[in-house]
Order: sequence, then C-alpha cells, then structure tokens
Amino acid sequence: MKRRLAKFYMIGSLALALQLAAMWMRSGVRGDYITWERNYRMYAVRSDWGHLAFARVQLAVPGDGLQWQTSRGGYAGVIYGPETSRFYSDLIALRKGRFIPAGHSPGGIPLLTYYHISMSYTLPVGIFVVPPLVYFLCHIRRRYVLKRRSSLGLCKACGYDLRASNGRCPECGAEQLSLSGTPGRGSRCVTTEASATCGQTLLAPLPSPLPVYGEREKEQ
Ligand SMILES: [Zn+2]
Repeated sequence: MKRRLAKFYMIGSLALALQLAAMWMRSGVRGDYITWERNYRMYAVRSDWGHLAFARVQLAVPGDGLQWQTSRGGYAGVIYGPETSRFYSDLIALRKGRFIPAGHSPGGIPLLTYYHISMSYTLPVGIFVVPPLVYFLCHIRRRYVLKRRSSLGLCKACGYDLRASNGRCPECGAEQLSLSGTPGRGSRCVTTEASATCGQTLLAPLPSPLPVYGEREKEQ
C-alpha cells in the first residue's frame, strides 16, 4: 500500500514535471496570458521568457470572464496592476501593493490592491522532478540489495543468513519458498537441503518445487 502510494505520487509528480517542462520550452517562443475576471477581481496566469507568474488584482471595472492571449515571444503590454511586461530576474519574486488604475488620476479613485508571485520555471520543474528521481534511485538500490542478498544466500526481507535454514526465515518469518513470481519482485529465496549443505542458495521463480528438487537430485 505504501509502495503503491509512493508510485502514484511519483507518477503524478513526473507528469507535472513533464507538463511544466513543456510549458517552459513553449515560453521561449510564445507568451501565454490567461486571465479570469469576476466581481472586480482578476486572477491571472502568465508564462513567457522562462517564467511563470500568478496574480490577483483588484479591478476598477467589472471583468468579463475567461480570456487567453498569446503572442510571439513574451507578452507585451501592461500585465497586472502597476506591473509592466517585464519579469523579475529573481528565482522567485513575491510582490504586493496598491496602484492607481490606468486612466485615473491620483485621488480620483481609491487605490486598488494586487498580489503576484513570479518564478523561474527551474523552480517548479526542479521541485516536481525530485520525487520521481528519488523513487528511481530507491528502486535501483532496492534491486541491488535484493540481488546481493540472493547471491549471498540471505533472506530477501531482512538480510538474515539463510544458508543453514529451510522454509521460513528464522529471523523475520518471511517465507523462503515461492511457487510464483519473478526474481527480485516479490519472489522469495528457494532454499534446499542440498544448497544449504553446499553453502549455496537457489533462487528461482519456479512453476513447482518438485522440478527443483528433481534437478538438484539429478545433479547430485
Ligand atoms: Zn528474514
């Protein structure tokens, strides 16, 4: 269950990282500016020049719903509140303040508020790429540990030396004889008397334990 959850989380994170990476590449050639305006409030997402920004801006006039503007290169023009088309060069920049809306003179209208956060794409892509990377490294490490335990005749579950044991692991109780599965993925060590005597542990996903003993007997 825990592994399943980790896998689910990893896949979601990887999908987001890929999606953001695609947006990052697009931001180099096209600027996108999506706004949603309602009840004198505007919410905006902007993507261009390798940056991503979110904003919430108070409006002097009621807005008219959802809009999407796109342009070659970066978006040119007034973005939100007092901001212009430029982005901050910081990795991440949080801004909030008050401004006079365009077309109004100071004192002619109460100041309006804005909040916005702009960030370089390296930040969200970097954040979402970490979980799949960690998962992948853990997976490789787990495979290495299982392979090593198998080759040394140790319990795959706890690493206890099973060369003198049969059936279950005396340390953790894990079943060491499996009739199904594949090596390294849920299958268990197959320990036979013969292998215990000669100090070797047989490892195999086998259809039935009988052929194993049969083969071993033939070898003897
Ligand atoms: Zn064990």
